[in-house]
Amino acid sequence: MTIEKTLNLENLMRPDLLELEEYTPVEPLDQLSTRLGIPIEKLVKLDANENPYGASPAALKAIQSQEYYHIYPDPSCTALRQELEKYIGVDKERIFIGSGSDELLELLIRLFITPGDNILDFGPTFGMYSFLGKLYQAEVRSVPRLIEDYSLDLPAALAAIDSRTKLIFVCTPNNPTGNTCPESTVRALLDTGRLVVVDEAYHDFAGHSFLNLTNEYPNLIVLRTFSKLSGLAGLRVGYGVLPLAVARQLWKIKQPYNVTVAGQEAARASLQEREWIETHVQKIVEERERLFGMLQEINAIEPLPSASNFIFCRMRRGSASEVKFGLEKQGVLVRYYNKPMLENAFRVSVGRPEQNETFIEQLKQILYN
Ligand code: PMP
Repeated sequence: MTIEKTLNLENLMRPDLLELEEYTPVEPLDQLSTRLGIPIEKLVKLDANENPYGASPAALKAIQSQEYYHIYPDPSCTALRQELEKYIGVDKERIFIGSGSDELLELLIRLFITPGDNILDFGPTFGMYSFLGKLYQAEVRSVPRLIEDYSLDLPAALAAIDSRTKLIFVCTPNNPTGNTCPESTVRALLDTGRLVVVDEAYHDFAGHSFLNLTNEYPNLIVLRTFSKLSGLAGLRVGYGVLPLAVARQLWKIKQPYNVTVAGQEAARASLQEREWIETHVQKIVEERERLFGMLQEINAIEPLPSASNFIFCRMRRGSASEVKFGLEKQGVLVRYYNKPMLENAFRVSVGRPEQNETFIEQLKQILYN
């Protein structure tokens, strides 16, 4: 009998992984353009909370002037960590760089989870926590948020914690709902003594951070990314501020060359251009408020107040899937979820003024025609 006939590769794989529900990423630009028959430059991409102004000029210049792409990157990201130390005022020994904050999430779960331990998140929230938890055989306890405003249900959270709770993930501002978590709630979670991971991917747009609490709580981890405001989503760079004992172990268990030369250079250069960062936060926040106002004028839509660079919209009338697919035909992309607690709703990222206007125009066409 030939090997092909007897070999069942799936039988050799981890059965729980065969059943794992895949994470749904956004569709790549070129494929989207081909599928819709619309040139890339005509697409209005408001589905992944990227910076609609692109990367900073300093970051682009740094990538262009780098001559050593044939040499492996610095495994410790020394220069970038030094720059971050100045930027955020935290000792570089407590700063860890990852290939996007996604990688940091994965490394933390790899470090702390023994199969059967549990992690907590507060759904609806960023799907990566539960996806990675399952990947490492953690029990994922997703404590439902309160449906009125998606705030975190603290009594339910405290009740869900037990001796095998290793990590608690708090996304603030929360993706996809845009609301922030009050400091008193974060403190109450920290007071349980469990490790709390505050995911601050969108903190710039909220004008608030939990970073200062890392000096007070030895069980707090704060994660940030260069993918959103800094406009480097395609280069994959994120960072964490961690207790020293955690940072030390993460260096040990990561892939040696996890952050590319281009990523390290671009992220470092972008930090040196503070003015660009500040101007763009302001532009995006102003545009968020203008977009929110325009959405409020549409009766069929209930936009939720947002502290982020996106707005979550529930439908009062009509169907969110029709909105999503109707917009898509016109080259306007928004994120649509057909999941519990997110039914008949979509999320729209804040774009440049003209992109937001196109979105509103097309949205009205769909709703009123
Ligand atoms: N956290 C949140 C809340 C996010 O929305 C995202 C990006 N979708 C990430 C983390 C991951 O960001 P990165 O690109 O740094 O991996």
